[in-house]
Amino acid sequence: MTSIIFFGPPGAGKGTQAKKISTFLNLPHISTGDVLRSKIKQNDQLALELKKIMTSGKLVSDEILNKIVLDKLLNDCRSGFILDGYPRTLHQSQFLNDFLEQSKIKLSYIFNIDIDFKILEERILKRSKEENRDDDDIDVIKVRYQAYLDTTQKVSDHYMENNKDIFYNIHGDDKIDEITNKIIKILKND
Ligand code: AMP
Repeated sequence: MTSIIFFGPPGAGKGTQAKKISTFLNLPHISTGDVLRSKIKQNDQLALELKKIMTSGKLVSDEILNKIVLDKLLNDCRSGFILDGYPRTLHQSQFLNDFLEQSKIKLSYIFNIDIDFKILEERILKRSKEENRDDDDIDVIKVRYQAYLDTTQKVSDHYMENNKDIFYNIHGDDKIDEITNKIIKILKND
């Protein structure tokens, strides 16, 4: 079983890389942002609440996220998984660690994609035009980036401290294919 987590600020390219690596390894890709965006389309009460939180750039509650991920891990991930966008809080990481421990699953790789904020801003603005995402305007980007600095970076730092042998920092300002090749090289070396 291969189990991978991708970390990185919004717009660093973790979703793009997670998708490519999911194809390369033929593993399910769990993007919590994608799951939440598809829930928003359902137009019920939960959708309205999610939309409000996500368009503000803030994080959705741990309770909702843990439920989404647990459901995916139990149902779609018998041969392994790639997590993209989760865990984003220490509470989520505790929940995930408890699940992995109980299921006797060891994490195989953690990729942390680093990028300079200026490059991020340009990328996210370009993506907002291409994908029409309403959480991609400049003020929202700042809130999302701040949520990353205040909360998620602490989670990736925690994993870095405790999983040095499987934690890889990857520069996110190279070309997409160059980054993918770097990751594939790491996967092949083990
Ligand atoms: P993403 O596509 O991963 O950048 O996620 C888009 C938005 O979905 C984020 O800005 C959050 O509002 C929400 N979201 C996605 N994953 C999580 C998570 N693990 N915890 C809390 N909120 C999340």
